[in-house]
Parts: sequence; C-alpha cells; structure tokens
Amino acid sequence: MNKRGLQYFTLSEIEPRVWFMLTGCNFHCKGCFRPARDGGGTLLTADETLERMEQACLNYYGKVPAETMITGGEPTLDKEYLLTLVKGLKEKGFEKIVLMTNGYALGEDETYVTELEEAGLTEAHVDVKAFSEDVHNSYTGKSNKPVLSAIEKLNASGIELLIQTVYMPGIVDATEIEQIAKFLASVNKDIKYRINPFVPIFAYEQVTRRPTLEEIERAYEIASRYLPNAIISRSCYREYPTPPPQKTWITVYPDLTAKRRGMEDQKEDRLSWLNGIRPRESVVKDWQNEEWDFTLRHSLVGISESPVNQSGLKEEKEVQPIKVKFPLSLHELTKTRWTELDCDGEATIEDVMKSLTDKYGDKFRETVMATDRDTGSIKIKRSFNVYLNGMNIKNRKGIKTEVHGNDEIIILSWVSGG
Ligand code: SF4
Repeated sequence: MNKRGLQYFTLSEIEPRVWFMLTGCNFHCKGCFRPARDGGGTLLTADETLERMEQACLNYYGKVPAETMITGGEPTLDKEYLLTLVKGLKEKGFEKIVLMTNGYALGEDETYVTELEEAGLTEAHVDVKAFSEDVHNSYTGKSNKPVLSAIEKLNASGIELLIQTVYMPGIVDATEIEQIAKFLASVNKDIKYRINPFVPIFAYEQVTRRPTLEEIERAYEIASRYLPNAIISRSCYREYPTPPPQKTWITVYPDLTAKRRGMEDQKEDRLSWLNGIRPRESVVKDWQNEEWDFTLRHSLVGISESPVNQSGLKEEKEVQPIKVKFPLSLHELTKTRWTELDCDGEATIEDVMKSLTDKYGDKFRETVMATDRDTGSIKIKRSFNVYLNGMNIKNRKGIKTEVHGNDEIIILSWVSGG
C-alpha cells in the first residue's frame, strides 16, 4: 500500500479531537503558510497512520475521540491512502470526519467525492484561492476549474461544505470575493463561506500586506449580499459564535513522543521553515510588529474573548455600565475611542443609540443612523455594523437587541478611512 508523509497529530486540549498533518501539496501558493506542503515527515501507510493515531489518543484521552480533521499540506494527493484513512476512522467510531483541502484532486477525478462520501467523510473545508483563472494560475501554479468543479460535486453530495478564501489586498480582494460569492450562490446560496485575512509573517512569500479591518468588513458585507452564511474568521477579528481561545495544544509525533506546544513553538516552526528565504531577524521583527498590531487592534475594536453575559442572565445588582467603542471615522465626532453608558438592565441597542445622540448630538444620529421608510423607526446605516459582545446585531434582533450591564458594543465602519 502507498505511504504518505505524516508530520504530526495535533490533539485539542479543549475537547477530544485529533488533526492529521499530512505532508506534500499539488499547489505552490506564493503566500503558503504551511511548512507541511514541502514534504517530509514520516512515511506511513494509511493503516500505520491509523494505528499511531489511535495510540496517541489512548495515551492522552484514554479513548478515541469522535471528531477529526485531516489536513496538511494537501491530504487528497493519494486517493487510495485517503479512502483507507477515512474508512478506518469511520470504523473506529469517528462521527465527524472533516477534510481540509484545496479541492483540485476532488474536481479532477469524477468519482473521488462519491467514494469519500461512501467511505464516511462527513465534512469538507475547501479553499477557493481566487475566482479569476489568471489570478489562480499565477498564485497557485494551477487552474481553478477543478476546484470549482469539486465544489459542485461536494454540494451535490451529502458531505457538509465550508468554503474559505484568504483576503489578500491587491490580489484577492473585494472584486474576487464578490465573484466567488456569486459563484457559490449560484451553486447553493446556503453554502457556508469564511473569509480569512492574509498574514504576511506566516507566508512563504510576503506577496502583500495584512488587510485592514475595514477591507475585511467590506468583503464580509459584499459576500453577505449573496451568501447569508458568510463569516469572518476569528483568527482575523471574530467568528460567530466566538469559539474559546486555544492557547496551547498537544503535538504527537509519528514516533508517539508528545509535546504541549503554543504560539512560541509555532513561531519557531515558521522561523526554521522560512530560514534561507528571509533573514531570521526580519521574520522576528515582523512577528513583533504583528503582536503589537494585534494588541492595537484589540484596543481599537476591543473584541472581547471573555464570555460576557453569555448565560443571558441579567445582573440584578447595582447599575453596571455598557462600554461602547467607536471606529476611527467617528473619533472626530466623539473625541474618544470609547465611552461608557449606565444601564439598568432594560435597554436595547436603540436606547443606546439614543443615549449616544444625546451625548454627541444630532450629527452622531445623522452619521450612524437612518429612518426606516416603512416603519418610521430608526435603523443603523448600511455603512456601519454594530456588534454586541462580538456578535453582529443583524444576527440577533437588530436594533431591538437587548443589552445589559457589562456588555460591550462595538460600532465599526467599512467606509474608507473608517
Ligand atoms: S496554501 Fe495550502 S494549497 Fe497552497 S501550497 Fe500551501 S498547503 Fe498547498
């Protein structure tokens, strides 16, 4: 039986779940951020890989988990290997078997998707790198036709589907995202679509810069016009619902040695991968800038990772303030990045907006709000998004969403300079 390189397994510390990191790839994405694409690892048959996975899980969890993700590199390169792996996982009791893929091989082979479904695959996450053939070709070295065909095949199967695109300013930006969203909507408007930010420090080639918050918000707005299930990755700024932050994980190597690893280890992996391409000092400097940038973004947009009022229970005690954060485009009006309003537990976003108008005047209302012609009630203008504890109020009750003490409201603008 054919062998494939296994770099390591990753075990989640939050809940029992195992990832397979297979090496090698049929694409050569300029901005690739996965050292596994260059091959290496330990060559194993699918059965040997399954045995080691099982042992790794028994050693750490005392049982085989129900969820797994097969990733790389590109896991689809050897059909026989992948089918045996998926079948074996199903036989071992895995209920959720997810494949992360660039989709190329699935589109090229007429029966690959059907065979994977029969083997037990439950979910596929497919990257659409670009919609335009020339952009895709020059970025990955391959045509995107098989990728688009794979999406059609997967959509027609019983396999759950998530499509992802990395937003790369000047390469894959709003225009490309709109074309991808249109294509996906033509296949199935309920397809889940996630937009991730390009992170140059992780990339093999720093082909462009990290997108701004406003660019990502705009891409999200555009994609949402066609796809109601569009989201923005938490690794960018937020994801709904916000998953708990994972700071460390367990890496188990093919010889079954295990290590708890965190961001520092990931940094070291990247540094050794990029060694020879960019001087170590420049990558370290970029990393430091990135950490600073994240701190700045958190202070500007204040995405809270702590569960605030997630139980939905009201605080019964004294009046607690609500924190409201403003985008740069409103700073001239508000003269501050954020403010606090008292809340007695009965307020809605509409009340908050009225309080902000009392505080900052009619100009605030005119800038952020409009009157709904049908109902006569106020609404948030299209150029602004309002988030309550990290969730867009559009996904809740809009302006009628209730707010409570200690909640955090973020107003974001995607207009240029906002
Ligand atoms: S980004 Fe993914 S598909 Fe592209 S080269 Fe890297 S591993 Fe392969």
